[in-house]
Amino acid sequence: MDLLVAHDLRKSYHTRRGSAEPLCGVDLSLSKSQCVVVTGPSGSGKTTLLLALAGMLRLDDGKVEFEGNRVDQFSHKARRHWWRRRVGFVFQSFHLVPYLSATDNVALAIDGPGRRRRAHEVLAGVGLSDRYEAKPITLSAGEQQRVAIARAMANNPDLLLADEPTGNLDTASSDEVYRLFQEFQHRGGSLVIVSHQQATRTIADRVLELDQGKLNTVA
Ligand code: ADP
Ligand code: MG
Repeated sequence: MDLLVAHDLRKSYHTRRGSAEPLCGVDLSLSKSQCVVVTGPSGSGKTTLLLALAGMLRLDDGKVEFEGNRVDQFSHKARRHWWRRRVGFVFQSFHLVPYLSATDNVALAIDGPGRRRRAHEVLAGVGLSDRYEAKPITLSAGEQQRVAIARAMANNPDLLLADEPTGNLDTASSDEVYRLFQEFQHRGGSLVIVSHQQATRTIADRVLELDQGKLNTVA
């Protein structure tokens, strides 16, 4: 069975500065342990699509299902629970809390006792066992993204959603991020990565391109 299914997603924005229709009938399905990369130029609607898949966007039409449950119709409580337990998010600009250590940034995402121990475990898993107490500003961009990935994976999610995860990284750090994503996939995780970077395609089982509000298969 598919883990995540999106059907006929439609979203348009209307502002005083004009209109945009980034999603005009988008279908997508993702099975367990699969990695889908969505490409497309800036402004093509990649972030909008990811927000829709995350249940963070009010759609004009269409539906998103996770294990058969309508994400777009979750109550606030059900959605928070889903985000916390089943989904991890990775962003281009990391979004770490600047005054907290790497450990505390990760621990924020974890519930219950043993939070620091679990935070250390996942930080070690991304190669940061020597930076537990480091504040984000003292870390390189690549290290900051690894903290963010540790945070995203702290609750063993089934699904990782990443928005331009290597957009601010050099080649070596990007490769490290791709390696961590592949490890996640080999453990059974599913990923949707949106990125306009060519290199991201190398880890995809399927590459899709968003163009004029439609999603087309590239490879
Ligand atoms: P991408 O991530 O591929 O760069 P986005 O999903 O951010 O594209 O944006 C797609 C289009 O929708 C763009 O034309 C953008 O200006 C517009 N857009 C995105 N978010 C909003 C918003 N909150 N209000 C108005 N327009 C928006
Ligand atoms: Mg974007």
